[in-house]
Amino acid sequence: MTDLVIVGAGCAGLTAAIYAARAGKSVLVLEAGGVGGQIASSPRVENYPGIASISGLEFADRLCAQALALGAELEPVRAAGLLPGSPMTVLTDDGPREGRSVVLAVGTKHRALGLPREQALAGRGVGYCAVCDGAFYKGRDAAVVGGGSAALQSAEYLAGLCRTVTLIHRRAEFRGEAALAARVAALPNVRLALETVVEALEGADELGAVRLRNTRTGGRTRLEVPALFIAAGQTPDTAAFADAVRLDPDGYLLASEDCATSVPGVFAAGDCRSKQIRQLTTAAADGAVAALAACAWADRA
Ligand code: NAP
Repeated sequence: MTDLVIVGAGCAGLTAAIYAARAGKSVLVLEAGGVGGQIASSPRVENYPGIASISGLEFADRLCAQALALGAELEPVRAAGLLPGSPMTVLTDDGPREGRSVVLAVGTKHRALGLPREQALAGRGVGYCAVCDGAFYKGRDAAVVGGGSAALQSAEYLAGLCRTVTLIHRRAEFRGEAALAARVAALPNVRLALETVVEALEGADELGAVRLRNTRTGGRTRLEVPALFIAAGQTPDTAAFADAVRLDPDGYLLASEDCATSVPGVFAAGDCRSKQIRQLTTAAADGAVAALAACAWADRA
């Protein structure tokens, strides 16, 4: 039986794998998507201590290689539930996996705007990852929705590829990092559409235009654009575990700084944990804390 089953191969999960493997434990990491989680689609990481600048993809690859070199196993399956006990059972699409302790590091997923036709146009002009899909719109116009660091990063990235980028944000102030906001605002081909919301998406098979409303003046405009990248924040990807562990009202796993959830032997790490600050550094910190606690639990189990 595996000592630790870690669900999620983002920064938190892979850091937990590194710590547990270095502590001599057997480690199985379950991940249905790509490794690295959200950071893999970040154009640049510039705030991880000791690394001045690195692409998100390279950071993710390095993290994964480090965990695997230490002996952690990575399995490409989707975790679909958790049966606490001794042993713990993580249900997957490919049958159960047993471990002495479990670290849930499932991260978050993109929040949709909830507009009519948003789902129908996803992948047809509407996107959630500028780094993944921005190249399709090289030399053309693009728009980004959101005012956090992810939206600002997306706008900056697209400005290097596209003719123009319109950054649409519902308030007058950005929520994201101030230095990043100043850099984006200074880009010659970025136009800021502040205090503005997207009311509708136009296009039969492909996005053709978005209809906008200024929330202060009430004025309505139409922006012809073949690409709209939605960077409106994240929601936790915890539904599969809602029956087993306690969640906060927003769906995040309830665990304090010791990463212990409501179920003994099950730990929460990274952006899926109920907390204030969600950064790469805090995901790594959670991974270390959760792994060491899970190792101690596995020793007793
Ligand atoms: P975020 O910080 O939660 O920002 C989400 C943005 O989307 C906010 O500006 C919000 O507007 C807007 N929004 C939410 N729902 C909306 C809706 N229905 N319609 C229109 N706009 C909507 O999310 P994030 O940018 O994805 O960042 C997530 C976390 O990762 C944060 O903790 C962030 O600091 C971190 N991160 C850090 C970096 C970095 O380089 N340091 C890069 C990326 C992400 P309001 O502001 O009005 O609420």
